[in-house]
Amino acid sequence: MPLTLYDTMARKKRPFAPADPRRVTMYVCGPTVYNYAHIGNFRPVVVFDVLFRLLRRLYGEDAVVYAANVTDVDDKINARAAEEGVAIAEVAERYLAAYNADAAALGALPPTAQPRATETMDAIVAMIGRLVGNNAAYAAEGHVLFDTQAFGDYGKLSGRPLDEMIAGARVEVAPYKRHPADFVLWKPSKPGEPEWESPWGSGRPGWHIECSAMIEQQLGLPIDIHGGGIDLVFPHHENELAQGLCDGHRHAAYANYWLHNGFLNMAEEKMSKSVGNVALAHDLLQSQPGEAIRWALLAAHYRQPLAWTDDALIQARNSLDHLYGVLGRARHVQAGGSGLLAEDQLAPLLDDLNTPSAMFLLKKLANDLDAAVRRDAGSAPAIKQDLMALAGVMGLLQAEPQAWFQGGADEGLKARIDALIGARDSARAAKDWGEADRIRAELTALNVEVMDGPAGATWRIKEQA
Ligand SMILES: [Zn+2]
Repeated sequence: MPLTLYDTMARKKRPFAPADPRRVTMYVCGPTVYNYAHIGNFRPVVVFDVLFRLLRRLYGEDAVVYAANVTDVDDKINARAAEEGVAIAEVAERYLAAYNADAAALGALPPTAQPRATETMDAIVAMIGRLVGNNAAYAAEGHVLFDTQAFGDYGKLSGRPLDEMIAGARVEVAPYKRHPADFVLWKPSKPGEPEWESPWGSGRPGWHIECSAMIEQQLGLPIDIHGGGIDLVFPHHENELAQGLCDGHRHAAYANYWLHNGFLNMAEEKMSKSVGNVALAHDLLQSQPGEAIRWALLAAHYRQPLAWTDDALIQARNSLDHLYGVLGRARHVQAGGSGLLAEDQLAPLLDDLNTPSAMFLLKKLANDLDAAVRRDAGSAPAIKQDLMALAGVMGLLQAEPQAWFQGGADEGLKARIDALIGARDSARAAKDWGEADRIRAELTALNVEVMDGPAGATWRIKEQA
C-alpha cells in the first residue's frame, strides 16, 4: 500500500513519489518568534511531525530532510522589544527557545534544519536580484515588489485568478504598485528597526521571500512536500510559489505536494477552570501532559477543523491511561515478530495521515494485547511489536507506563510510594491482609491508586477532583 497524500494544488489525493527516495525534502512554515505560540500554531508542528516520522520510516532515518523556518525579522518582534526595552534579538531568542521547548514537550522531533531569516539575508537579497533581473520584480520608492502579472500561473494554488483580485482590492493600495496583488520583497526600515544593505537601499525583506530563499538554499527545487496551515494558502504560499518559479532557474514545479492542515477552533465555554480556553501551549503544558495535548491535536484528521475543548483533552488522557495501563500489564512481554504485514501496521497513516483511524487501530491492538497477556498467549510479543511500531510513527506511547502514571509526583513522594508498595507486597506475600489493607489506605490518603497486575503492582497519582 503506497502513501497517498491530499495535494492542495491537484485538489485530490495522489500517491506519493519523491523525486529522489534517497533525499526526501519537506518544508513547513514555522513561527514568528515574538510571543509564546498559540496552541493552534502547534497543530501543524505535530501533524507534520507525524509525516516526518512516517517518511523516515518509509525511506530511512537519514533520507528525509525537513526544514522549518524561524521568522526573526518582523514588526511584531520590533514592537515587543520596544515595549520591553530590550534588544530585538533577545526577544527572538527567548521565544524561539520557548517554542522549541514546547514543541519538544509535544513530542515533536527537531526539524533537520531550522533556518532563521536573519541568517539567510544574503540568499534573500540574491534571490530578489534574480527576480528583478528576470523582470518578475520592480523597484519603486525604496521598495521592491513582485510583479504578479509577470507570472501567468499566479492564483493557481489558491484558485483565485488575478483579475478577480482587482475587484476585491481595497482602495488604499500603495500608489507605487503596478497591480493591487503585487507584494513586497524588500522595504525600507523605519528608524530604530534592523536593516540590511541591498542594491535597492538598506532595508529588510518581506515575509514571503524568506521562505522561498530558504527552500532554495536548504532543500533545492522542486521540493517534495510543502506544508503549513490552511490560512497560508493565500497569499503566503501563492506568493512563495510565484517567487520560486520566476527567479530564472526554470523549474517546472516549486513543491510537488502541497499539504495544509485545518483550523483549530477554541472552545466557546467561558468557565473559569476550562482548559479548553487556554490559548497558549506554554500555559496548557503547565497543567496537561504534553502527550495528552499531542493526542488531542491528532484526534481529528489533519484537514478537518479541530474543536479544542476540555472534553477533547479529557478523552485524550483517558485513551492514554487505557493504553499505558495495557502496556504496564504487558511490561514483562518482550516485543518481537509481527502479527501484521509492515504496511498494514501503518495502513491508516499511509491513507493521507488518517490519525483518528490509526488511534482506533492502536486501541484495537492494545485490547488484543491485553487479552493475550491475560491468557498468557504466545501471540503477545507480536501484538506488542505492531502496537509499538504504529505508536512510534505517531510519536505516542514512548514513555515508560510508570512514568506516564507518575508524571505528577516528585522524587521524594515517588520513593515513599515505592517503599509503601514494597511493604504491601511483603504483607500480601505473608498473607497479612490486615497490614496490606492498612498500607493501601495510607496510599489512598496520598491520592495514589494501586493497580495489581500479573507482573506485580503499579501505581498512579489520581486526577485531582
Ligand atoms: Zn512560508
